[in-house]
Amino acid sequence: MNIILLGPPGAGKGTQARKLVEERDMIQLSTGDMLRAARTSGTEMGKIVADVMDRGELVTDEIVIGLIREQLTSGKTGGGYIFDGFPRTLAQADALGALLAELNENLDRVIEMQVDDDALVARITARSTCGNCGEVYNDNTKPIPADHVCSSCGQKAQFTRRADDNEDSLKTRLLAYYKQTSPLIGYYYAKGDLASINGLASMDTVAASISGVLAK
Ligand code: AMP
Repeated sequence: MNIILLGPPGAGKGTQARKLVEERDMIQLSTGDMLRAARTSGTEMGKIVADVMDRGELVTDEIVIGLIREQLTSGKTGGGYIFDGFPRTLAQADALGALLAELNENLDRVIEMQVDDDALVARITARSTCGNCGEVYNDNTKPIPADHVCSSCGQKAQFTRRADDNEDSLKTRLLAYYKQTSPLIGYYYAKGDLASINGLASMDTVAASISGVLAK
């Protein structure tokens, strides 16, 4: 089963994708994570995208489609793919459709995680991530353990805030979402692939809604 988690920054796509990986042995393909890894390892592409990402703008379709193509053709298999943060434009959506068709794969479900903008700002400006495993923490709802031992990987870790998790960058990211990504809701609705869930509920309730969609 191949699915897309669609929603604005801070909707909880990454958190839910990680749960699906654990529980269903699916493969998470997050273009945001891939781009951050490219930055950290200092590749040429990482250098090119760094400023764009920090401003909160979208990197080019060509770059992210290339990253996804690389992953899909790497031969790694599991209980299906979770596309997290991809596609973000109509051109990316078309490219994904073509890529899956090439590989004789289907897109089974597109799950739109609905949240309101005030909640997004609150979530994003309070979040940090385990530098070891990527587990997401929140100052208000899931604070970093006092001993800095991550509850997910059990390692003593550094917990970092993303460079683009600030109010200025978030404004640009939200604008990019409404302008370039939200048209995908109509696109996948028209294809009959869309299911929308409430992303504002607790993590477990959202996970249960996603399970409900996948069971249909
Ligand atoms: P994310 O971790 O999904 O919030 O992505 C962080 C940043 O990476 C975004 O604000 C964009 O600058 C870039 N990015 C991630 N995925 C894409 C994509 N599919 N298309 C264009 N830019 C992307």
